[in-house]
Amino acid sequence: MSAGERADVIVIGAGIIGCAVADELGRRGAAVRVLESRAVGGGATQASAGILAPYAEADRPGPLRTLCAESLGLWDDFVARAVADSGRDVLYERTGTLEVVTDEASMRRLERTGRALTAAGVECRLLTAREARAAEPSLGAAVAGALLVPSHGFVGVATLMEALREGGAARHGVSFLTDRPARHVQASSDGEMVVETAAGTLTGDAVVLAAGSWSGGAAGTAGALPVRPVRGQLLQLAWSGRPPARVVWAPSCYVVPWPGGSMLVGATVEEAGFDERATVAGVATLIKAVSGVLPEARNAGFEAVRVGLRPGTPDDLPVVGRSATAPGLVYATGHYRNGVLLAPLTARLVADLVLDGREDPLLAAVSPARFEAA
Ligand SMILES: Cc1cc2nc3c(=O)[nH]c(=O)nc-3n(C[C@H](O)[C@H](O)[C@H](O)COP(=O)(O)OP(=O)(O)OC[C@H]3O[C@@H](n4cnc5c(N)ncnc54)[C@H](O)[C@@H]3O)c2cc1C
Repeated sequence: MSAGERADVIVIGAGIIGCAVADELGRRGAAVRVLESRAVGGGATQASAGILAPYAEADRPGPLRTLCAESLGLWDDFVARAVADSGRDVLYERTGTLEVVTDEASMRRLERTGRALTAAGVECRLLTAREARAAEPSLGAAVAGALLVPSHGFVGVATLMEALREGGAARHGVSFLTDRPARHVQASSDGEMVVETAAGTLTGDAVVLAAGSWSGGAAGTAGALPVRPVRGQLLQLAWSGRPPARVVWAPSCYVVPWPGGSMLVGATVEEAGFDERATVAGVATLIKAVSGVLPEARNAGFEAVRVGLRPGTPDDLPVVGRSATAPGLVYATGHYRNGVLLAPLTARLVADLVLDGREDPLLAAVSPARFEAA
């Protein structure tokens, strides 16, 4: 990168959020540069289970559920475009989730959830323990009942990231500058945004900060933004028996069955600062949790453990919108446990804002002003 190079929009961070935003901006005709301090997808995104399940994640009505449900509706098109642009296959299945419980009190809660979802027009079905085991024969005796939500699904995140990177670069002129941390961002006196890196400066009309857990102080822009890392560990097992037909969401873990026999088991939720190590305690916790609901897990082979730092915020909502102090700076961060699910919606909201000046009403709940004003 030469000193003084120009782009319409500079995106900081090439996780799922930065890549989805860059793709949408490029698709709409903007010249986009993405700065990434590691490799594309090398932050929290590489550890993600890729579950797309608003009604399991956000178990009550509120802004998070509204955003997640809205984003779920964009996924078919999002994947179809990535596949068409890149010519690559993306692992994507909408085979539903089965949320299982292991005690009667939790079954009563699941019944209330089922009634509320039905009243809200979301298709779902309560299953007795016997029905749940008929649907998923690998479930163990501890299961007391389940809630099936057919519209949920999952994506193979690595396959999606490959497609977004290749499609964005080949079809929409997005350029990815990896191993290139943004060091500092500021607005010049004429309103341009200037980003400094070790290899020179870049100027643009706007900067989108999508640096995940590192957004709190990334690039010397936003020291006040209270985004913190929340460590998650996730196992990849080689399943030897008949795998579940869909995502199983249990009290202390979830399971994602990939075609071909690999199975993801996630995830720990740990306040461990920026420590990205896998730990014995984390792995042991997940093995115990999955063995409790799927006893065959004890016979599975061990393929990998992945670790990522989810970008958490004090109210568990993302931060998306213009900075009040530097209008050329747009945040797209703090997606915590739902960054994959929320990527298509975030991309649309950010592109509307940056390119068309359109403030979608959905942005009200995720405005940076709730933290910048403090
Ligand atoms: C174990 C686990 C399981 C998960 N499962 C799910 C799931 O099933 N469904 C779901 O929706 N979500 C899930 N999540 C959450 C999801 O992974 C995150 O919300 C999402 O990856 C956040 O994406 P991001 O792009 O904001 O951050 P990241 O993926 O962390 O990307 C940020 C990028 O910014 C880069 N960066 C940082 N500072 C700079 C700088 N100064 N200059 C340039 N680049 C910089 C980093 O290197 C990084 O690549 C899971 C997370 C974990 C850890």
